[in-house]
Amino acid sequence: MYELIVIGGGPAGLAAACAAWEKGLRKILIVERDQELGGILNQCIHNGFGLHHFKEELTGPEYAGRFIELLKQTGVEVRLDTMALDVVPEESGASVHMVGKSAGYRIEQTRAVILAMGCRERTRGAIGIPGTRPAGVFTAGAAQRYVNMEGWMPGSRVVILGSGDIGLIMARRMTLEGAKVLACVEVMPYSGGLNRNIVQCLHDYDIPLYLSHTVTDIRGKNRVEQVVVSKVDERRNPIPGTEMVFDCDTLLLSVGLIPENELSRQAGVEIDPRTNGPVVWQDMETSLPGVFACGNVAHVHDLVDFVTEESRRAGESAADYVQNRRWAEGKTVLTGDTRIIRIKNGDGVTYTLPQQIEPERVEKACTVAFRVNRICGPSRIVVTDGAGQRIAAFNRDRLAPGEMERIALPRVLLDRIVGDVTVSVAEKEAEPA
Ligand SMILES: Cc1cc2nc3c(=O)[nH]c(=O)nc-3n(C[C@H](O)[C@H](O)[C@H](O)COP(=O)(O)OP(=O)(O)OC[C@H]3O[C@@H](n4cnc5c(N)ncnc54)[C@H](O)[C@@H]3O)c2cc1C
Repeated sequence: MYELIVIGGGPAGLAAACAAWEKGLRKILIVERDQELGGILNQCIHNGFGLHHFKEELTGPEYAGRFIELLKQTGVEVRLDTMALDVVPEESGASVHMVGKSAGYRIEQTRAVILAMGCRERTRGAIGIPGTRPAGVFTAGAAQRYVNMEGWMPGSRVVILGSGDIGLIMARRMTLEGAKVLACVEVMPYSGGLNRNIVQCLHDYDIPLYLSHTVTDIRGKNRVEQVVVSKVDERRNPIPGTEMVFDCDTLLLSVGLIPENELSRQAGVEIDPRTNGPVVWQDMETSLPGVFACGNVAHVHDLVDFVTEESRRAGESAADYVQNRRWAEGKTVLTGDTRIIRIKNGDGVTYTLPQQIEPERVEKACTVAFRVNRICGPSRIVVTDGAGQRIAAFNRDRLAPGEMERIALPRVLLDRIVGDVTVSVAEKEAEPA
């Protein structure tokens, strides 16, 4: 019987396992389907990782390496090349079904589980681009893996659809490897990526960014030959007569990430349609007692440092769950007396995480992460209670959908809150005096 099984050996799983070990758990297993630990960071050879956590600028593999070194100093067991297939909640824990190259099919019992499976990319099929179906259409992450890990160039004349971070980083990467990146095309009127990536990956290489544009046709028989790009109106419908034709052999798609939650759904974890990830409490526990979630499986992050922070919280909470024998209390952790604050998204906010807080179990403060739905100048983030009273406000110079925001709600404040809370955003000039 394990105390904790962590599914996924990316930065989330690594940080969670290390934190649980530090808190005293000794029977921990990490299950990773890849041949090595590190997750998506292994293919992110650019720098920009670790500025918050290590106060240094590291590459993805360097950041992962630091945690792999930490893990080596623990007795955490790792099974690589092993895919978790099923998590079955049981009376006093769960069983995890897995299949691996060396060990074959195994069922392992555990007191607690941490879901840290990351996310996957949206594909052409998911967004339904018209046109023929030639070779040369890749997701940006797949192209990144080919270039950075397998040593293959996907093409030489490239159009990129989507201006999220992966698309921006691949625009620069393909250019550095000798390809001509003709355009980065974004359907929204703003980029979905970090501002620093727009500057460092597009502006520095004179790659044009077409906002409010999309790909309306892919042409070519065996291989992509042309891509047609059109301007869109405010309802994102292509405007006839605005077509631009790019002669290219490659289209990279960077059109969003989807948290990888097949296992979570199968296990019966409640999923939030806003994040596509599990509904979690302040300690990252899901709707199933003893099953925790962290990292990109819970909501898509742009900075790995915050993945680490959140995942350490999940690891520590799982240790607390096991050590305080909460598994022995059966499945009903909440009693009728438990005070719960649900967090709703108000104006300008697309989701919040956690979705619910149990104030009595918050030590000092609860960090609430969220994203906004538009670019805002100087703004005020406003938290109101169930009676519509403003209970907290936070100023920001700028807010953007591509940059996750975080606020801290202190325990003393949580203790005073009546009913649920709503987080909304108001641009300062739009606010009534
Ligand atoms: C292209 C790109 C550029 C980025 N650039 C930056 C940057 O400049 N700075 C920055 O701070 N952050 C950046 N990030 C963000 C950061 O890398 C991610 O937020 C972070 O890697 C997420 O960690 P994770 O552990 O949740 O997921 P992942 O790293 O995806 O790890 C999940 C792991 O789970 C494994 N897994 C999944 N399902 C199973 C299963 N059923 N059984 C076993 N194993 C499983 C996967 O193989 C994988 O190893 C970037 C991300 C991308 C994709």
